[in-house]
Amino acid sequence: MGDAYDIVVAGGGVAGLTAGLTAARLGRSTLVLGGGIPGGLLLSIERIDGYPGFPDGIAGYELCPSLQEQADAAGAEVAAVELEGLVRANGGWQIATSDGAVEARAVIAATGARFRQLGVPGEERLQGRGISTCASCDGPLLGGATVVVVGGGDSALQEALTLAQTAQRVIVLHRGDELEAQASYCSRVNEEPTIEVRYGATVEEILGADRVEGVRVRNTAGGAVEELAVAAVFPFVGLEPNSGPFQEHVALDDRSAVRTDERLAASAAGIFAAGVVRGGAAGRAAAATGEGASAAITADAYLA
Ligand SMILES: Cc1cc2nc3c(=O)[nH]c(=O)nc-3n(C[C@H](O)[C@H](O)[C@H](O)COP(=O)(O)OP(=O)(O)OC[C@H]3O[C@@H](n4cnc5c(N)ncnc54)[C@H](O)[C@@H]3O)c2cc1C
Repeated sequence: MGDAYDIVVAGGGVAGLTAGLTAARLGRSTLVLGGGIPGGLLLSIERIDGYPGFPDGIAGYELCPSLQEQADAAGAEVAAVELEGLVRANGGWQIATSDGAVEARAVIAATGARFRQLGVPGEERLQGRGISTCASCDGPLLGGATVVVVGGGDSALQEALTLAQTAQRVIVLHRGDELEAQASYCSRVNEEPTIEVRYGATVEEILGADRVEGVRVRNTAGGAVEELAVAAVFPFVGLEPNSGPFQEHVALDDRSAVRTDERLAASAAGIFAAGVVRGGAAGRAAAATGEGASAAITADAYLA
């Protein structure tokens, strides 16, 4: 990693890698701080649906490394390093990272989002011991087991479909009385005999001594409580933007996502945002990719 760049991108998901690729192609010296393993939320997805150019879907572990390769080839430097904070310096920004400090004339926030927790007893204690948000990683280890997916949106149903390939039974617990996912996921789930959807169901506790052994579920209509014996819990109840490192410099919306104008500039000069860390983001990979490119183009114009 060098000392100073035109553009530093924070985040190595599809938005960040595309921002890095685009900024480098525009001739800007570019560093992408990709966090732990670049790839973001999509890295472990078995089949990314709706991404242009891949009519049969594409695995995240294929798409993300190829995007990184493309960013590298364009001349962006991609480092598996976290942005820890930033302060104004020399008309740009001084950035603290997990591997020292760098300066940037412009910064693109593409730090994405993290899974919201259920906030119930047992969740913290059993994290990583049967609680997972990666169906493609943990599904193969759960052959023949009964597992629970919590949520009724796209992520919940997509991951339930992946789990159905290996688990004996997948129970989707949804607190509402209608699924909230794309129609294609709803119909595939309804046709999949291994998946059972329970409506009006909220998880009250995750049970187990050393690893997940069950869940306590309340029916929101009648209030009845029951215990289900399950080997794993996959919670997909929403995402929270990773906006923390930027919050003292830029305006956030009521979800703590970074506010931008229509050209993706945040409220502080020289900071731009792309992807699901941004308020109003569409929540699709194609949209995050497009925003990454747009933010880099706007940052380039700002520097010019
Ligand atoms: C289970 C699931 C399935 C999905 N399936 C689909 C699908 O089939 N089709 C589709 O179109 N969309 C899908 N999506 C949505 C898609 O994942 C998002 O739209 C997309 O990942 C957003 O990309 P992003 O780059 O904005 O953020 P992210 O993917 O969240 O990437 C952000 C990256 O930034 C890193 N980071 C965070 N903080 C820092 C920091 N301080 N410094 C450096 N790096 C940091 C993170 O570790 C991460 O690598 C799915 C989402 C989920 C949760």
